[in-house]
Amino acid sequence: MGTGNEHSDVLIVGGGPVGALAALKLAGEGRRVTLVEARARDAAIRDARALALSWHSRQQLAAVGAWPAALPCTMIDTVHVSQQGSCGRTVLQREDLALPHLGVVVDYPALVQGLAEVLEAAGVDVRWQCRVESVRSLSHYACVEVSGPEGRELLTCRLAVLAEGGALADSLPGVKRLVHDYRQCAVLAEVATELPQTGVAYERFAADGPFALLPHGQGFMLVWTRGNDDAERLKQMDDEALCRELQQAFGERQGKIVSIGPRASFPLALRQVNRVISGRVALIGNAAQTMHPVAAQGLNLGLRDAIGLAGALRGAADPGDSRALAAYAAARKLDSHAVVGFTHGLIKLFDGHNPLLNSLRGVGMTALDVLPPLRRRFAGHLVFGV
Ligand SMILES: Cc1cc2nc3c(=O)[nH]c(=O)nc-3n(C[C@H](O)[C@H](O)[C@H](O)COP(=O)(O)OP(=O)(O)OC[C@H]3O[C@@H](n4cnc5c(N)ncnc54)[C@H](O)[C@@H]3O)c2cc1C
Repeated sequence: MGTGNEHSDVLIVGGGPVGALAALKLAGEGRRVTLVEARARDAAIRDARALALSWHSRQQLAAVGAWPAALPCTMIDTVHVSQQGSCGRTVLQREDLALPHLGVVVDYPALVQGLAEVLEAAGVDVRWQCRVESVRSLSHYACVEVSGPEGRELLTCRLAVLAEGGALADSLPGVKRLVHDYRQCAVLAEVATELPQTGVAYERFAADGPFALLPHGQGFMLVWTRGNDDAERLKQMDDEALCRELQQAFGERQGKIVSIGPRASFPLALRQVNRVISGRVALIGNAAQTMHPVAAQGLNLGLRDAIGLAGALRGAADPGDSRALAAYAAARKLDSHAVVGFTHGLIKLFDGHNPLLNSLRGVGMTALDVLPPLRRRFAGHLVFGV
């Protein structure tokens, strides 16, 4: 186990991208931070996720040195939204927001491993390969039970921040999680197309489920939402058959679909807590809300949680101060509810094959496309949050 202090100002549970950003932000503001991460420091992260981050998120990470210089990423300059079976479409471009890029695509393992190096360089006390078993909030401090290679240990802090994805939230007084199982999986695979990718991220509401083709290196990363059984079928399908199925759903915008790589899948559910604070415990990132990836907003929103928490605690002598934490909860409510509602609404709106609804959706996309103020506003929400 690490050799840092046993009592810290802030103890963060989970060294995913959100926990790492919170640690860097709070340590940068002079707080004594301990981060506890279940994964071993150099363990290979087997996670196929390629994440689309808005340009704003990328800048927020860069501002605290949390965008490692050598991080491989692919720029997004255009977002092209369309629907199979209707001609309506919306195209958002970097010029709409006068930004150098709309966003970047980065592999989850590369981002997390890069952040581990940044945390070390910043001198944050990180306890690798340590799992938090329980968190308890007392009147003057929080108590965190950790198990690691050297056994169990109790750590104390003025504030405990859950950034571990949400499992620990269930034991917190007053915190309830709303869970909606979509009975869907996201199927991910690398895709090569005849025409080179030119910084366009495609979002296609196909008849059998929405998919994104995110620019990824020279090609694309496919993220296709399918019902659970159907996702399993896609995973077992031979490459040629899947290329044909994708081609049919996507059309010829990138010429022929040339090849498709091995598939990975992720079960999808919406989980949202009714409150993001409980005594001296605050929730951020996936611990506060885990959502469907259709709008590529989960991490973008989580990073804003981390920034919002650091902002609310600024100037508070005690980081577990109830007024500062209430300010954090209030500041994040609108953004969180709007993004979760928008994402869940998209899934519902594009569910089903009703021809009338199809036409209405097409008209909606065209309206967004031809009304620049509306389009800019929409793009602004996607990039900057609400
Ligand atoms: C298929 C898919 C595609 C997605 N695409 C996008 C996208 O394009 N854009 C986007 O913005 N979002 C996307 N997301 C969402 C995004 O992946 C998450 O929002 C993001 O990873 C949340 O980060 P986090 O740091 O909160 O949690 P996580 O990334 O889950 O990290 C949690 C960390 O906590 C650690 N941990 C867990 N339990 C404990 C414990 N008890 N003790 C100590 N450590 C613990 C874990 O080891 C892990 O390192 C996607 C999600 C999926 C499933």
